[in-house]
Amino acid sequence: MGRRFTGRRVLGWGALAILGIAALLSGLNAFSKAPCFQLPGALTCRVDTEDKIVALTFDDGPTPLGVAAVLPILGRYDAKATFFPIGENLKRHPDAAREILAAGHELGNHTYSHQRNVGHSRAFYRDEIGQTAQLLRTVGSDSAFFRPPYGRKLLGLPLEVERAGFRTITWDVEDRPGRFPDPADYARDIVERVRPGSIILIHPMYRANSTSREALPQILAQLQSRGYDVVTVSELLNHKPSGATPAR
Ligand SMILES: [Zn+2]
Repeated sequence: MGRRFTGRRVLGWGALAILGIAALLSGLNAFSKAPCFQLPGALTCRVDTEDKIVALTFDDGPTPLGVAAVLPILGRYDAKATFFPIGENLKRHPDAAREILAAGHELGNHTYSHQRNVGHSRAFYRDEIGQTAQLLRTVGSDSAFFRPPYGRKLLGLPLEVERAGFRTITWDVEDRPGRFPDPADYARDIVERVRPGSIILIHPMYRANSTSREALPQILAQLQSRGYDVVTVSELLNHKPSGATPAR
């Protein structure tokens, strides 16, 4: 009897340990994806303001297709944005990145090969950030903004981001093309979640991202009709509250 009881207890503790490890791993996984929190280093996912100002950000690429589609739309609405290109693509399409800068927008660092940056060595993170920083300088950007691919970061990546002198910029409103494949629904979903100080993340660069490219004019029109200024991350971070100054 006693032995059988002990056996069950051992099995019980084993199962508990497995459950505990699973819970820990799932907690770390959720923690690594949390857009507004990281342990080391500065992170911004939105800015605290009552003024109707938001930053628009575009991830991945650059691709000639995405840049040719997005820049004229931004120009038409007199909106400025921050693009986070991938190092590999910057190397392939430096002129697309130069066009972005020439149109008055800004760039940020989105790593060289766009991997999930958890569980790698410090040297790996250093290379991913450093190679991309070098490519950004080559096209004429001295950006100090970094965005982790898939929003993934735990300890090693943020430490290297900080060491390289970058600030992590995430978002509080991300596009959901899987849930809203229709451009009008996709645009409405984004605009309804925006609030003063938001940082919006849109993916317009690849052939498969046609929903976001088609929705972009609607997003800008709806934000502007609600009174929002659409600016770069730099402008949002430097924004001074309007306070008692007269409305423009
Ligand atoms: Zn990305």
